[in-house]
Amino acid sequence: MMSGFSRSSAVGLLAAASLLTTAACGSGSGSAETSTTASDGKPEVVAAFYPLQWLTEQVGGSDATVTGLTAPGVEPHDLELSIQQVTELKKAALTVYIKGIQPAVDDAVDPETSFDAATAVTTIPAGEHAEEEGGEEEHGHEELSYDPHLWLDPSRLATVATKLGERLATADPAHAQGFKDRAAKTAATLGALDQEITQGLTTCKSRTLVTAHEAFGYLADRYKLKQVGITLDPETEPSPTRLSEVAKLAKAEGVTTIFTESLVSPKVAEVLASQVGAKTAVLDPLESKPSGDYLSAMRDNLKTLQTALGCTA
Ligand SMILES: [Zn+2]
Repeated sequence: MMSGFSRSSAVGLLAAASLLTTAACGSGSGSAETSTTASDGKPEVVAAFYPLQWLTEQVGGSDATVTGLTAPGVEPHDLELSIQQVTELKKAALTVYIKGIQPAVDDAVDPETSFDAATAVTTIPAGEHAEEEGGEEEHGHEELSYDPHLWLDPSRLATVATKLGERLATADPAHAQGFKDRAAKTAATLGALDQEITQGLTTCKSRTLVTAHEAFGYLADRYKLKQVGITLDPETEPSPTRLSEVAKLAKAEGVTTIFTESLVSPKVAEVLASQVGAKTAVLDPLESKPSGDYLSAMRDNLKTLQTALGCTA
């Protein structure tokens, strides 16, 4: 009877011991002394949607495991989080997001372990026709005082890169230098892109952008363009009043191109274009992963703008 008891308790002890070992590995304790190449010690960083995911991968490099919350092709404003994603987000060393883009993410983040990129830059006010849609509490745009689409200005994104490098360095001091070096490199790359766009849009026949949804405020702000968004929110149908307002303005300003987006139905833009005798062209707000990356998509946007606005480089 005695031996039977000790056998089973020995099994129990073994099981407990192996659980302890697993737990120790999982938490990465002791890795500082033994400098292993295992990926266990890397901070897990969650990025809310594409441009932030791209940025976090650049800055995190091989020192972080970056997970994106929004799958390619999904309009990020509508994101709903699975229980698994919420768990992932809660245990991540850092969640990188922009308050106001995705209400589901805004609700789930812990202020201690999150980085709101909007806090790193000077924001611009939200669009003026926010009153258009009353309901739709699933969309965050309505109550925001600022425009959250800040990644469309590479110079602001460069500032975010620098701050993100500092946040990652704090989260994982052992790799602080790597995070800061990559942040500096990324900021420099974005600075060069900013120069390229500034030059490319210096001399243009028109500076008015008529867009499907008001996502390009920062691009307009940075490069001295004027944005006229048909709607504020990608899912909102514009009212007839708004449409005729925009049509009148487009005619008055001699607009030749109405911009559409790959994730938004081009129907409204096409109707408007035919009303004012303009063409349509796709301008990518980069809310979802493009066919290339952030840099190549912004260069494609520059080419599209140069053609549509009649710019001479
Ligand atoms: Zn948007």
